[in-house]
Amino acid sequence: MKPSLRAQGMVWLLACLMALACPRSVQAGFGEFTIRDEIELARKFDLVIETRFPVIDDTRITGYVQSIVDRLVAAMPPQPFPIKVTVVKNGALNAFASAAGHITIFTGLIANMAGEDELASVIAHELAHVSERHIAKSIEQSKLVGTGSLLGILAAVLVGSQGGGDAANAMVMGSVAGAQAMQLKYTRENEKDADQFGMGYLVDAGFSPSGMTSAFEKIRKLQWMAGGGDVPSYLSTHPGMEDRLAYMQERIARLPKAVRDRRSDDTAYAQVKMLVQAWYTDPNTALAIFGSPSEPSCQARLGQAIALSRLQRIEEARKLFDAALACNPHDSLWKREYGRFAFEHGDLETAVKALQEAVLREPGDLFALFFYARAVAEQGNYAASVSAMERVVRDVPRDSEVLENLARYQAALGRNFEAHLNYAKAFAFKRQFRKYDFHMEKSEALASGARELEMIGKVRKEIAEYREILGI
Ligand SMILES: [Zn+2]
Repeated sequence: MKPSLRAQGMVWLLACLMALACPRSVQAGFGEFTIRDEIELARKFDLVIETRFPVIDDTRITGYVQSIVDRLVAAMPPQPFPIKVTVVKNGALNAFASAAGHITIFTGLIANMAGEDELASVIAHELAHVSERHIAKSIEQSKLVGTGSLLGILAAVLVGSQGGGDAANAMVMGSVAGAQAMQLKYTRENEKDADQFGMGYLVDAGFSPSGMTSAFEKIRKLQWMAGGGDVPSYLSTHPGMEDRLAYMQERIARLPKAVRDRRSDDTAYAQVKMLVQAWYTDPNTALAIFGSPSEPSCQARLGQAIALSRLQRIEEARKLFDAALACNPHDSLWKREYGRFAFEHGDLETAVKALQEAVLREPGDLFALFFYARAVAEQGNYAASVSAMERVVRDVPRDSEVLENLARYQAALGRNFEAHLNYAKAFAFKRQFRKYDFHMEKSEALASGARELEMIGKVRKEIAEYREILGI
């Protein structure tokens, strides 16, 4: 691709992404652009993120990060949108706000922060960009907003701007360009504001203000090592760090001692960080992290067991899962991981028992539910597995593995129409569109009545939109 075209593409992307967050007053070029339109566009932008990065579906991780967001949002002025967070698997120490109050957090950030105060600080800073509507103000100054479909421009820039070569790679480049274009537009003034308002939210929500300086110092120190590849690093997109750190320190020094000396309880954070390190970083690195202490904690034992299982060192893993569970026998996360390992290594009875307990103790844990559904299906109890997997699909609607399993259980129960429809979706999200067509035709042939035809229409619409975003 020609550099000039690419640059032009980035400008357009910037323009349209910023337009998503524009207040009505600056949207003259678009005519009627309602809050509802903005939410709809943000939903589609989320789909773009999903097609570019592996999204973390583990509710233990996402639920925790969302709880930090919710605490901070409660300390903010009222926002026109619900603030929603997505966690994506990527080693970079990164986070960014996009449209309509949607925040994306990278696993590299969670894996490298020292505690809850540091993670909350980065999120508070991003939330301040949202509350101060920096993106909207920036687009107002750029005067780049033209006419036409916002999503059309978005899709054209992200997906249609590939100059040949590997399509998947080009799409990743597209998303990087998107995130970077958005971030690069923040001015130093914006950053100072985001620090200041972010610090206010952080303190009002009960976190420690020193988390903010230590988080930024750590990001500055670690960003080169964390290896985000093509993803822009957090600080390079947030300019003027030296001045900002000095300013933040000054401000913290003026706060009451009781506030300065605050320190959040890091128990929940440590558990989530363990999960991220054990499952979503290189397993050898994870093993080195958890395997070093001579007297490992219950948590380190679990992390080590997970890392060993990922390295296929099954017998060692089995011993450590036993030791980890003996160390912490009543925790639903320990039960879940123990049950999941037992399921994957053929001990069905143990798996069902442990996973059932995990689900009973923590009904919102979708991973526990997913493995429970699979385990009871292996025992032939398809009715239980369908109802558990349907619950998972409600919250994780675009995971092909979840859909494929649900389809299989429905087929076993003779619910063939739904089975073909879910197989169709599973293959679509795996980008195997010939198989998608095959199963759509089958489900169409089996459809009877208006409700089923309506279901088919909904899937066709959803997949057409997905393909439009993928550009295939
Ligand atoms: Zn910033």
